[in-house]
Amino acid sequence: MTAVNVSAVAKSYGKVDVLTDISTHFPEGSFTSLLGPSGSGKTTLLRIIAGFVTPDRGTVTIGSTDVTNVPVWARNIGMVFQSYALFPHMSVADNVAFGLARRGIKGEAARREVAQALEMVRLPGMGDRKPKQLSGGQQQRVALARAIVTRPSVLLLDEPLSALDRRLRQEMQVELVRIQRESGLTTIFVTHDQEEALTLSDKVAILDRGRIVQIGAPTEVYERPVNRFAAEFLGDTNLLEGRVNADGTVVAHGQRIASAISLPPVGQAVTLAVRPEKIEIRDASDPQTGTQHQVANRIRAVISASIYSGTAITYEAEAADGLRLKIFAQNRDARLRAPGEEVFLSWLPDHTVPLAA
Ligand code: ADP
Repeated sequence: MTAVNVSAVAKSYGKVDVLTDISTHFPEGSFTSLLGPSGSGKTTLLRIIAGFVTPDRGTVTIGSTDVTNVPVWARNIGMVFQSYALFPHMSVADNVAFGLARRGIKGEAARREVAQALEMVRLPGMGDRKPKQLSGGQQQRVALARAIVTRPSVLLLDEPLSALDRRLRQEMQVELVRIQRESGLTTIFVTHDQEEALTLSDKVAILDRGRIVQIGAPTEVYERPVNRFAAEFLGDTNLLEGRVNADGTVVAHGQRIASAISLPPVGQAVTLAVRPEKIEIRDASDPQTGTQHQVANRIRAVISASIYSGTAITYEAEAADGLRLKIFAQNRDARLRAPGEEVFLSWLPDHTVPLAA
């Protein structure tokens, strides 16, 4: 178990700045996801930590060692890629043993390590098969066994599940978390799948155009996005443009909206983010009841669309001054609300998040 530290790392290809001044810490034994859209620099950052790419500036340390100029093979990392990259002509056991042989571990000692690694990924007794005799999920487990068999101090995963179908992917997510917990490996996981990042990680780092815009626990990055990009990239959100009022509320679209989170100074423009599932819909004739009365923000609106998807209903509603809001409601009301229906929308000041410009 070893912490990883990235300090002031920058990388350009020609005129394209791929990473700009990245500094972050991956605590010992933690599972961190690098999450961002395609091209945001996730893979480049992972490859810099692995040693496949040399940064133009900055340093990478693993444990107490500065590895910035240490070659890949001497960094003691395990890596799994999206494509399994198994050798097709070699047996599963030989694939897993590959890294051991390069370290001079052979014979009985190697067999023991391989058996243990295959046990860890729940493929015991599969050592004699060839990769093509295994399913996609099993092949990815072999790749994982190969990455951990050398007992690395850091595990780097580059979208390892994205080639798998949904069900297998979910199964492997559970396995990955189990293996990470059991091995205690400091793990860095690249994904563009927000749900995967939230489900698997201790920490999520959100990347936008070569910068980490926010890093924190899943609940922190989801509940308290720091800026518009983070709010919109991770999940759905409603954005309300307003100005901070002298009474400490925000006036947005003609409404006074309270936030429990500290606002910019009076008079300044501010964007408020409200997640669609935080908004409660009440009948227009019954605005006071419900779990959120008294302290809630409450505005009148008219339902403009409803999309039924079984467990939930997505509503769109229009309020005064052209304000349109999206609401996710659980499917438990006696009836669906129809377009044209007048309602009250309410949500807590706690769920009203001011964003940095
Ligand atoms: P992500 O993993 O978030 O999709 P990448 O790190 O793969 O992003 O790429 C970030 C940007 O860097 C992209 O614009 C990509 O085209 C560019 N890039 C990555 N590797 C190279 C390379 N070897 N040469 C030139 N450009 C590259």
